[in-house]
Amino acid sequence: MSYSDSPIKRRESTRIYVGNVPIGAGAPIAVQSMTNTRTTDVEKTVAQIQSLERVGVDIVRVSVPTLEAAEAFKLIKQQVNVPLIADIHFDYRIALKVAEYGVDCLRINPGNIGNESRIRSVVECARDNNIPIRIGVNAGSLEKDIQEKYGEPTPEAIVESAMRHVEILNKLNFDQFKVSVKASDVFTAIAAYRLLATQIKQPLHLGITEAGGARSGSIKSAIGLGMLLAEGIGDTLRVSLAADPAEEVKVGFDILKSLRIRSRGINFIACPTCSRQEFDVINTVNELERRLEDIITPMDISIIGCVVNGPGEALASTMGVAGGNKKSGFYEDGVRIARIDNDAMIDELETKIRAKAQLLANK
Ligand code: SF4
Repeated sequence: MSYSDSPIKRRESTRIYVGNVPIGAGAPIAVQSMTNTRTTDVEKTVAQIQSLERVGVDIVRVSVPTLEAAEAFKLIKQQVNVPLIADIHFDYRIALKVAEYGVDCLRINPGNIGNESRIRSVVECARDNNIPIRIGVNAGSLEKDIQEKYGEPTPEAIVESAMRHVEILNKLNFDQFKVSVKASDVFTAIAAYRLLATQIKQPLHLGITEAGGARSGSIKSAIGLGMLLAEGIGDTLRVSLAADPAEEVKVGFDILKSLRIRSRGINFIACPTCSRQEFDVINTVNELERRLEDIITPMDISIIGCVVNGPGEALASTMGVAGGNKKSGFYEDGVRIARIDNDAMIDELETKIRAKAQLLANK
């Protein structure tokens, strides 16, 4: 099965652009992350954005809580290539400032800006500068009256909050926006996104908010986002982890890879190992994952410990090994072409995979 064979039928949506990254209307699902450095520390924030660029992030969100941070944002923007979203909560003056400094998207809820003239000035500024807006509603910060009406952050409550902001933009004839309705509870988030998907045409930004640490948060996100993506819902995503933001990007791509929605880099197929293994599969996979992080060419690589499943998986992969006594069978494009010394396995595979990636990239 190739990536173009994904059985998922995507929800139809309108298209927006965050910088040069298309979102919605069939565009590849964009993987986002967010910096966690102090925005006023320009050097550290630029370094973190560059580390996210290295693992393939499409869009980065940066908090801009103060006018001082807006001045730092200006300097940050000049030093990175990836499109930046400024996260602004209440102060409309910050939105106007970062627009002047070349922001690619504003994460601001129009209902939180204050009076109508402030809302209008932000929306007109976004329109004049071709800057889309992300409406972001979180279950944990719903308006007081909605909380009172529903008693708890139900999916309906979250969507009602989102629709208030959407209606403000509709009234101002501004349609260049995307919406997120995040909750930390997987079922609540899924139900909210499903409901919202029936109410607007704009792209949806997916996330399970405050998902947790690297392991538990990745699993929660994979289940929540995975269910929505499998239904065709979602145009961009962020995996929210209490971890290095680069992990968020890697997990985001792994989710998309698992669903064959979007390919980037190596998809490893490895057996769980047992006493039949002829070489150290776990160490080989971990070491290759670490060494080959920079490869962006989509490839399936199978690392299987013995001949029970090894040849079958290897035949269906771009490259694969099936463990054998002292030497293992090596396969490329469905053909067994060599035997690799088990003791030299990691280095040999790294060399062969890099050469293949280069070859495929030049095709
Ligand atoms: Fe064990 Fe072989 Fe199965 Fe791997 S492929 S788990 S080594 S039987």
